[in-house]
This record gives sequence, C-alpha cells and structure tokens, in this order.
Amino acid sequence: MLNWDTPLTSRNVSNTAPAHPNIVDAASSQLAEVETHAAPLTHAQQATNDAANKSGLDGIAQGAGRIDVSEKRIINATADVNQIMPMKYTWAWEKYLAACNNHWMPTEVSMQADIAMWKSRDGLTPDERAMVLRNLGFFATAESLVANNIVLAIYKNITNPECRQYLLRQAFEEAIHTHTFQYIVDSLGLSEGEVFNMYREVPSITDKDSWALKYTKGLMDGQFDTSTLEGAQSFLRDLVAFYVVFEGMWFYTGFAQILSLGRRNKLTGIAEQYQYIMRDESIHLNFGIDVINTIRMENPELWTAAFQNEVLEMLREACELEVAYARDTMPNGLLGLNVEMCTEYMYFITNRRCNQLGLPELYAGAGNPFPWMSEAIDLKKEKNFFETRVTEYQTGGALSWD
Ligand code: FE
Ligand code: MN
Repeated sequence: MLNWDTPLTSRNVSNTAPAHPNIVDAASSQLAEVETHAAPLTHAQQATNDAANKSGLDGIAQGAGRIDVSEKRIINATADVNQIMPMKYTWAWEKYLAACNNHWMPTEVSMQADIAMWKSRDGLTPDERAMVLRNLGFFATAESLVANNIVLAIYKNITNPECRQYLLRQAFEEAIHTHTFQYIVDSLGLSEGEVFNMYREVPSITDKDSWALKYTKGLMDGQFDTSTLEGAQSFLRDLVAFYVVFEGMWFYTGFAQILSLGRRNKLTGIAEQYQYIMRDESIHLNFGIDVINTIRMENPELWTAAFQNEVLEMLREACELEVAYARDTMPNGLLGLNVEMCTEYMYFITNRRCNQLGLPELYAGAGNPFPWMSEAIDLKKEKNFFETRVTEYQTGGALSWD
C-alpha cells in the first residue's frame, strides 16, 4: 500500500535541525564598514566590480569592501554573487536543506509489480494504458524543459548566492526526475521514441510546452538583462510560466492520474516515484513563489496593474491548456476521474496560485473534487511540506492512500 510513512532510505528519516545561518552579524558588519571605506574606488575599479558582481566570473572586485547584507537583491544586485554569507534570504537556504533531506533515486523503487501488471493482459484497461503513456509523454520532456530553463535562463539573472544554491539543487532534482522517466520507459519496455517524442507529436502536449517556451525565448538572447523595466518584467513572466504554471499547475493533473492508479493498487512503483516527484515539486513551486514575491517587494514598479492583469491572463490560458490536456489523456474518464472533475480541480489549483501571488481568484467558488490529493499534498501546508512529512515518518502518522 502506498503510504507517506514508507521511508525511502534512512537518510530521509534523519531530521537534523537546520543550522540557522548567521543572518547578519552586527559586529562583523561594523568591521566591514570600517574596511569598506578605507580607500575610495577609482572609476575603472568600480566598473570592474560592477561587471564582476553580475556574473561572479568576470574578475575579482579588489578593494570593494565586504558585503553588506542590505545590498543583496534577487535581481540586479551589486553585492558579490560568490558570497553566500552573510545570508539574507533564509527561506532559500531552508528550502535547499529540505530538498537535500528529501534526496531519493528512482532506481531505489522496485518496478517488479509494475512490469508484471503492464505485461499482463487484463491488469489495465486500454483507456488506462493510453492515459499512462500520454502522462509519461508529457513528463518525460517537461522535466528537461524545466531544467534547461533554470540553467540557461533563470540562473544567470538571479544575482543572489543563496537563491543560486537552491537552483543548483533544483537543477539536480530535475535530472533525477528525467532519470525517473528513463527508468520507467526502460523497465516497462515502452517505446522510447513514442514517449520522448510526444511533446512534438501530441498536440495537447505541444501546445503546453510551446506556450511556456515563448517566455524563455527572449531571455536566451545574449543581450538580455533585467536592468530595464521591460527586461525585469520579461524575467518575471518566465518565472510565472515555469514555476507557477509548469511546476505549479500543469504537473497536477498528471499527479492526480497516477496517484489514482496507485490508490487502486495499480502501477504502485510508478505511483511511489510520482509521490517523491510531487514532494520535490512542491518545494520548487514555493521557491518560485517566494522569488517572485520578493522581486515584487524589492521592485514595486514592476508590479503594475497592467502587469498583474497580464499574469492573470497567463494563468487563465494555462488553465485552459491543462483542461484540453486532461480531455486528451482521458476522453472517457477513468479511475473515478473525468474531465469535469479535472477542470474543477484545475480551477481550484489556479485560484490557489492567484492567492499565492496576491492576485484575485479567477474561478469564483471552485471546490476541490480530489480531497485525497490534499491529503497527499496539503496545499495549506506547502510552505512546511517537507517538515510535515518528516514528522509523519517519525510518528508513523495517519496519512494513507485509501
Ligand atoms: Fe521536476
Ligand atoms: Mn521541478
């Protein structure tokens, strides 16, 4: 039986209290103050330092003085990006620690029962098989799209080392997720050509992926930066497209489908892997929300009424694309799921994302037709998702899949 209490490895169970970093040490920042003002910088030195500050690789800012934590910013920081201490955004560091404590590998999950079920004639209905294939087809390349966006578009524009520390961990988790789909395809003997090409061959998947990729496009231009209002807003759109929509909305129909199979004792190995992916993704989503909201607070001029409407429109389009995908993956309904319920569920999830971004809800009165998903991932507890799980591992808590 699938259960959150099932420890993956002893690593997951050890709940070492996160060592809280020294956020700002008053005495040492006073010392830094003294040293900072020892010698004024020449114009040339300042220019070198500005360049060095952006990438962290363009040269060392000699004599620039020690970091003052107040100079740290998520985007357009002037503080050295190579120094994680002193730390400003402890939420990013805490997510990094939680993510490391959640470490898992797909190959630790046995696929024997899944292989037997997939190969048996009557283990799964034709509709269930079709749904599983399209589900895997979406995720198989989605994880790579997310990883590439982090590494090639997001990382270089986030000018804060504690956020970059989390991004490095997240990038590795996306690699683990891609590994999961390789492992599933390999274990079940599926056609890798069919599964990995679905994002080019199945229109409902292509539509989602192309929608997200258009927000990455401008950021790939070597000239792109976030120093202008236009550039910073483009960056925010990319964060919304990937963290809020891709990881925070579009993964959820897929999670609900596979976890529904698991609740009926079907493909329990894959369902277990999806639980671990969902646990990781919950932290990815919350990191993205914290990054977006902190950029908003630090740069209020970006969050205009027009821009807020644009974000709402993005969420509305994304919701419609997901409903079309749900219809395409299970036209006849299955496992107690149907398109109407998935639509309602997506409205519910979309409203939740609006709330997290401080925007008005798009779908008034939408309820949650899958309360068991809330048990699997209590939306109200997303901020402390991992800690909740750890407590439950330790107490043999009551969360159960049936
Ligand atoms: Fe992922
Ligand atoms: Mn992710």
